[in-house]
Formats: sequence, C-alpha cells, structure tokens
Amino acid sequence: MTKERLKELLKPIAEGLFGPQGTRRGPVQPHYTVRPVGMIVEDLCRIPEEDWAKYAFSREPLNGKFNDEQRRDLTCRAIACGREYAEKLADRYGMRDPEKLARKLGLKVDFPDMPQNTERVLFAEFREPDKVHIYMDGVRKGRALLGEPGVPHALTGQLDITKLLIGHELFHWVEEHYKKEIWTRTYKIELWAPGPLHNRSGVAVLGEIAAMAFTKALNNLPYSPYVMDAFLVYGYSPEAASGLYEEMMQLAGREPRLPQAEPPAALPERDMEGGEAR
Ligand SMILES: [Zn+2]
Repeated sequence: MTKERLKELLKPIAEGLFGPQGTRRGPVQPHYTVRPVGMIVEDLCRIPEEDWAKYAFSREPLNGKFNDEQRRDLTCRAIACGREYAEKLADRYGMRDPEKLARKLGLKVDFPDMPQNTERVLFAEFREPDKVHIYMDGVRKGRALLGEPGVPHALTGQLDITKLLIGHELFHWVEEHYKKEIWTRTYKIELWAPGPLHNRSGVAVLGEIAAMAFTKALNNLPYSPYVMDAFLVYGYSPEAASGLYEEMMQLAGREPRLPQAEPPAALPERDMEGGEAR
C-alpha cells in the first residue's frame, strides 16, 4: 500500500488517536455506529473483486477524470494484470508463498514493530529498491481479532496476514522491475496541457488494485484483500473501521447493516381462513 493511500485511509484514526483530540478546534469527527468485526468481514468478503472499483478509485487523485464505466473497466484490467504476474512468478520460481518468493527475488523483508519517525498507523510498506517492512503492531492486533465470532468463517483458514501484506508489497517491487512493460505503469491518461504540449500521467490506483489481485492470487484467497483495510483498522479503532465498512458497502452498491439488525424477517403468516385478525 502506498504511504499516501494509507495516510488518507487512516486519517480519521490518526486524528482520533494522536491528533487534535482534546483540543476544541478543527472539524468535529463524524461518529459511526460500531459493528462487530465479524459482521464487517462477513459482508465485505461477499463483495466481488470488480465491485471494489469505486472504493479503490475514491483514493485516486485523478478519480474525477473517470466515469463509473471506465473505473470498472480499468479495475478489471488491473486485476488481470496482478493475476498475470502472480502466475508468471509462481510458475517461474515454482512457489506461491509470498514470503519465500520475495526472498527468492532478492527482497529484504523485515518485521519491525512500528514505523520509525512517525506516529501514524501503517501496516506495511515497500521501500525502493528492495525493502519490505511489515509492521507487527498492526498484524498482532489483526491476529487478535481472528478468533472473534464470524471472523474465522468469513476470512477462512487460508489467511495469513503477514503473507497477504508481503504479497501486496512484493507487487510494488514487481512494478518497478517490469516498469517498461507492465500495464499498470504503461497505461497513461492525457491531462490537459497548453497548445501542442502533452501531459501524460500514470494512474497510481491501478498499481494498488493490481497489488491486491496479485496477493489474492498468491495467497489463494476467495475474497478481495481490500477487506483487510477495514479489518486491520478495526484493531486500532472499531469506530473508524465501521466508518470504512459503511463507505465500502455503499461504494459497492450495497446496504451497510446495523448491529443487532434482525435477519430479513420472514413474511408474516397469513391467516389461512382469510379475513382480518380480530
Ligand atoms: Zn500498495
């Protein structure tokens, strides 16, 4: 995950946990109804990979340049790109384990507790040219949630949080390594420029979407790793994670549930005799 995207993602948390909390200045943080973590992952795991398009693009600085059809089309192409490279590398090296694959490719993976020189919450990052940091504070908080009701069933026994994060960061290395040919880097859009000048720009979110598809394929997960955005944030702030859940559900065209919501009620039993109840 890029630093920028995570910064944006965790802004509400950073502001809540470390920021202007206690001071009376600044905008009031919205409050979200806290859901059990099991409800959040249950619903989010049902969202098909392509339906994450609008959520993913909502973090893209050039989001306004696209309509929904284009967002969806680009998302599908980014997913195909991520899968293609996952299979290519898995075949070439005869392994799918992201951690082993990363080491085989010469990356240096380490597991510090937290990022240095920042108070921000961060789960993982790729540093050029060849370093991947997996921050264990967030991973441990995530692991502690794996036993919550509904979570094991939704996330499946396949999930290994560190391997999922390594797979995502490994894709950022892959992008650098294949930057002349990989679609997420060769795809450009034309931005306005005066006269005969050209101003072509890459679209950063395509690399994020492909990184999610890449790690999904390597880890053999049946759901989109975007679920982890909300799940790992839950370890720090159930309320911020619930806000993300609402946003993710709405952007995927679904209705967020409220806690204690009854399952859809069965139709009331009809009085078979006809006539109104007295
Ligand atoms: Zn990333």
